[in-house]
Amino acid sequence: MHTPTPAQLLQVWERGGDPSAAARGLLLLGCSCDDESSVEALAALPLGRRDALLLELRERLFGAAIDAVATCPHCAATVEATFRCDDLRLPDADAAASTLEHAARGIRVQFRLPDSRDLLALENCGDAEAARALLLDRCVFDARFGDEAHEPRSLPHELQAEIAQAMAQADPQADLQLAFRCPDCDHEWQPLFDIARFLWQELHAWALHMLREVDTLAATYHWAEADILALSPRRRQAYLELCAP
Ligand SMILES: [Zn+2]
Repeated sequence: MHTPTPAQLLQVWERGGDPSAAARGLLLLGCSCDDESSVEALAALPLGRRDALLLELRERLFGAAIDAVATCPHCAATVEATFRCDDLRLPDADAAASTLEHAARGIRVQFRLPDSRDLLALENCGDAEAARALLLDRCVFDARFGDEAHEPRSLPHELQAEIAQAMAQADPQADLQLAFRCPDCDHEWQPLFDIARFLWQELHAWALHMLREVDTLAATYHWAEADILALSPRRRQAYLELCAP
């Protein structure tokens, strides 16, 4: 992985105007992962591996500390907490097996972990039921009762739920939960943390801030946008201070 330049980041932000969180995650990885990682290869990474890479990118771009804000579900207080990227990266995020197996009620199911291609395919599903059926169709290689093959979507509902649970257990990095404790009422809860969404929000705020700086410097010095973006942060800041009213 390498750290994208400000100009590359602005390009990613520009291209990610409308797409979904899954597509934005791929744009972010595409600008930071080295050339040998093709778009197809990045899209085929299990979501936990994708999220581990996004956490690494986040640390490179905005530092290791993540300030998260949540609303206490018990008393509605606003609770702030700081997490470190290292604490959110699970040690075995790379170790997920490519083929997993679950056997119950005499049915043996072989499946793989969901990836970005699946998230993209699931985007237009009308409801959770349709999404689960499509995900099973995509991720289950083989389901059989003895010699008899089963359609993934015709599996018993309890078994479908167990497969979803086995997927989450096999790829915990994709299902990351933060630990919050409310200082007002002592309530503890674990909201899900979606690094793709979180990092995109940060990139959006960064891009607007950067464009304001470009605007200020261009108006004062009449430099081109590319030249301003190529300045080191420190030098850019020094010029901004010089032209502050
Ligand atoms: Zn509370």
